[in-house]
Amino acid sequence: MADYIYTLETRLSPDQQKAVTLVQDVAKAADMNLYLTGGAIRDIITGFPIRDLDFTVQGNALKLQKELERAGAVIGHADDETKSLLLTLPGNVRSEIAMARSERYEKTGKPPHILPATIIEDLRRRDFTVNAMALSLNEGSRGLLMDPFNGAADIEAKLIRVLHNYAFLEDPSRLIRATRFAARFHWPLEERTQQRYDAAKDNGYIEYLRNSAIGHEIEQLAYEDDPLNILKVYEKEGWLKVLNAHWSSAKADTVGLSTLMKTRQQMNELGYMPDVAPAVIHFLSARLGDKDIADIRKAIPRKDLVESWKDLEDNAKDLAKRLSGKEAATPSRTWQLLSSARPEMVLFLAVTARQQGVIQKIKNFFTKWRQVQQKIPLLEMTELHITPQLATYPKIANDVFLMLLDGKLRSRTETLKFLKPLAPPPPPPPPPPPAKRGRGKAAAAAAAAVVPAAPAKPGAKGKGKAAVAAAPVALPPKQAVAPKPAVVAKGKPGIAPAKPEKASAKQATQAPPKQAAGKPAKPATKAKPLAKTKTKTPAKKKR
Ligand code: ATP
Repeated sequence: MADYIYTLETRLSPDQQKAVTLVQDVAKAADMNLYLTGGAIRDIITGFPIRDLDFTVQGNALKLQKELERAGAVIGHADDETKSLLLTLPGNVRSEIAMARSERYEKTGKPPHILPATIIEDLRRRDFTVNAMALSLNEGSRGLLMDPFNGAADIEAKLIRVLHNYAFLEDPSRLIRATRFAARFHWPLEERTQQRYDAAKDNGYIEYLRNSAIGHEIEQLAYEDDPLNILKVYEKEGWLKVLNAHWSSAKADTVGLSTLMKTRQQMNELGYMPDVAPAVIHFLSARLGDKDIADIRKAIPRKDLVESWKDLEDNAKDLAKRLSGKEAATPSRTWQLLSSARPEMVLFLAVTARQQGVIQKIKNFFTKWRQVQQKIPLLEMTELHITPQLATYPKIANDVFLMLLDGKLRSRTETLKFLKPLAPPPPPPPPPPPAKRGRGKAAAAAAAAVVPAAPAKPGAKGKGKAAVAAAPVALPPKQAVAPKPAVVAKGKPGIAPAKPEKASAKQATQAPPKQAAGKPAKPATKAKPLAKTKTKTPAKKKR
């Protein structure tokens, strides 16, 4: 058996992994068997992006609601009929947790008769073989794939296949779903499925589409990576009119939609992951009348999606106003404002803003101002021991960045002048090496020279650790902490004691330490005598 747990762990994003762990813990505490089902398994196997996580529990999923909310989940809809939850888990992970159920269709166009069931029975009520697989998330069988309809083989063959002859008659929304998956994956319908699809279309089965399915399928459009293409394919197949009588691709704002997708991509590359679904549905339906928009909003089951869609324009107006006011009077303040705004809002405003000032500020935020980060003198900061290990590091780095943005630090010298007083005290010197036996007084003297109280004078013999300890400001940490006791013991020139408060970090590393040895103070030249010392000793012994 393929190691699906390994695949799961490598294919899910960190937030999705956390979501799986959370649901696992909650289901276990409620003593319910849990499975990952549907599209997530299909996408794990195919390698397509995993867009949402559909879980199935053997038991009433509604009973998990409180515990999940306590853990930060936002419930978009709780369906009492199917005992399922549509929710967003922490990290913006879109999920569904449904009770394993069997469905018995008694009359065309009427909802099925639903009963709690086992996971295998639940897989039988699904739409296509590639969506009818489950992965156990239970102790003892974790990672076991249940694939009663050989969906994995259809994934391999890239085919959309219904589970039985009545699939489209029982639930005509499967016609729309088949169109969507075929268009998204570029997989054809399997031959007999295609025949049944054509027959169902000719016989007008779509008339029996239930309202709940209309809402679900409209919602799914919002999550597509190429929603306009799906909208056009729906239109061609005649499904768009079924979702809303006045809908056509002409009612979509195609320019807005394509700018949205491009800007989303740019934001993703910068590490922002805005939830694009509310904006997608906004642009897809941009030119529909108010009544149609209201109908669509009513039909969509996930109410958090509807709320975000409704708020888009007002929130964008608000952000635009703030960007035009005092709050964004300087680049640094604008940066802070845009950094603290929800990425969804910045994205939507980036696409819809009309005021030149606002457009320019958002453009700078995504491009020009980011390049200022390269002016932060990271090397010198390291030399000053202003490193991420320091508790104050984020604030210092941020302050430097903001000052650079506003042109308050105009040169490297000015930046270093600002940074130096913020440097922490140099780290304590490392402990002396154990004194070697039989070296008598010389060894003891050498050991003593390693921990002097005050920096030795330049050029003096045996300045050893004092010199090394005084150097950290001037040297990269590796050099600064590397003890060279042998050099000290043998009275070889050490690193000249730096005067950090006067010399710049760069100057200090490059400073010709004439006063120390009369030679360039490159680290390599310092290492050589040490090597020589080491090789000489055994040679002496031989003689
Ligand atoms: P994606 O989210 O990638 O569009 P998905 O397969 O997860 O694909 P959903 O609409 O979230 O699509 O449905 C989740 C699962 O529920 C499906 O994989 C399928 O197993 C089942 N399902 C959804 N709608 C139907 C339906 N009309 N008939 C039978 N099973 C369905």
